[in-house]
Amino acid sequence: MSELAPGAFHYRGVLDEAAQSALADDVAAIIAAAPLYVSTMPKTGAPMSVRMTNCGALGWVSDKAQGYRYEPRHPATGDRWPAIPQRLFDLWNDLTRYPKPPEACLVNVYDETARMGLHQDRDEADVAAPILSLSLGADCRFRLGGLRRGDSASTFALSSGDALVLSGPARMRFHGVDRILPTIAMPLPPALASFGVRINLTLRRVT
Ligand code: FE
Repeated sequence: MSELAPGAFHYRGVLDEAAQSALADDVAAIIAAAPLYVSTMPKTGAPMSVRMTNCGALGWVSDKAQGYRYEPRHPATGDRWPAIPQRLFDLWNDLTRYPKPPEACLVNVYDETARMGLHQDRDEADVAAPILSLSLGADCRFRLGGLRRGDSASTFALSSGDALVLSGPARMRFHGVDRILPTIAMPLPPALASFGVRINLTLRRVT
């Protein structure tokens, strides 16, 4: 584990190959129950380059009409999100030590050209709780900035099996994915490879 900044922790390879495979199976089941959808930007209505879905009591969605928010139901199917798998609760407990469980798990699926612009995770009422992010599949170049958009940033690779925790003084740091890298420590299994090359799971408390 390396502490990138106070409260920002990078756990390299915290998931071994078996754990990555098991988590990939969980993700395939989540996508089967809650199909991937494309969110659009609040102001412009432009589509995001990642496709997403969620598990948990609440899921993150965005569209031009209502902007960024959490919803208890899938925007296309109208169904409640599937439950968060036990393996993710266990990882949350092990890596964050936070006493309350996550309420939302956003699943972002990247193809080779997808990226995520610099942003803060600020749609949650409870920003005392940490954020836990898990990576599967292709490496990405991750950007971790400061508390203001213009602050200097550092970049580093996130690889399959890595975890990143933003907590305490790092909870509101700007962050994003500059690009997907050509290197892949462990490719996504066939059940997921048709959707993209990298999957990121982000666990959060919301209320
Ligand atoms: Fe984020």
